[in-house]
Amino acid sequence: MRIAVTGGKGGTGKSTVATSIAFEMAKVHRTLLVDCDVECPDDHLLLSITREKVKDVETFLPSFDQETCQKCGICSQTCRQNAVVFVTGEYPFLIPEQCNGCGACMLACPWGSITEDSQVIGTIYQGHLEVQESLGLEGVTQGLVNNFLLISGEVAVGCEASTLVVNATREYASQLEDDYLFTVIDTAAGTHCDVISALMDTNLVLAVSEPTPLGKHDLELILELLEKMGLDAKIIINRADLGSLDLIKTLADEMGVMITLEIPYKKEILENYSRGVPALEGLVSDLVTDLVEEALQDDLVTVEDEMKEEDP
Ligand code: SF4
Ligand code: SF4
Repeated sequence: MRIAVTGGKGGTGKSTVATSIAFEMAKVHRTLLVDCDVECPDDHLLLSITREKVKDVETFLPSFDQETCQKCGICSQTCRQNAVVFVTGEYPFLIPEQCNGCGACMLACPWGSITEDSQVIGTIYQGHLEVQESLGLEGVTQGLVNNFLLISGEVAVGCEASTLVVNATREYASQLEDDYLFTVIDTAAGTHCDVISALMDTNLVLAVSEPTPLGKHDLELILELLEKMGLDAKIIINRADLGSLDLIKTLADEMGVMITLEIPYKKEILENYSRGVPALEGLVSDLVTDLVEEALQDDLVTVEDEMKEEDP
């Protein structure tokens, strides 16, 4: 079962929820946490995980041959990313950070003057939980360590093709999913392409919001997107005792989406957050129990899968 955790706006506690749910699930079930917030991945920080590099994400980069180039400018006219600068009478000039590797310029060049090169646009990391009593992770047993794996994508500094890094991160994670019962995907905030790529092919989306006018506005946008994508959604309200809860409740009623969890504003949560331990441990346990039951009911996870976990 793939569960995405998203939120219309940054700073709502999306990563806090994703890490805590994945941590809670891994106490019993093999769980993959996939950090697809590639411009600002922080799940490893929230769980005090040291990431190891798995591989670079590379993409096509055009290489211009000045021997044969006729300075026609067609490559520049073709590029929708404005990655090829052309001044009449000069050779084309590439801005690699803007190139998304689509290859259109190479196809369009009438003189075959563009050949294939590559560039590194990001990195995929992975990491395991560690037993760190000094951090308060006394609850991290060897079983939990074995059950849990973090995959984390990170776009190269200055690169604009972040969606390709999200796709590569999802693709890498999908190769490992057979060994895991649950995949929790932490998306970027907003409704842009990175978020859409992270949400694709998920079974349930948890939309994290806060009870403020801005929180409501952005939640509405993300719920409209989920409706268009045909994805099942539930709402989690963070800092539920600050602001106006009715704002979110009214929107949830209007859009027919259930509020599944209200998280209070508590000093203890902030302390856990700053210490790099699962901030909502305990608060999400009922939600995780419900998610596992739903997965069983919908045949996304079978009893046989669960038995295999117990007797690998
Ligand atoms: S389309 Fe080809 S020939 Fe024309 S400017 Fe670009 S690289 Fe040169
Ligand atoms: S590969 Fe695509 S994005 Fe990159 S320079 Fe060529 S046309 Fe532009």
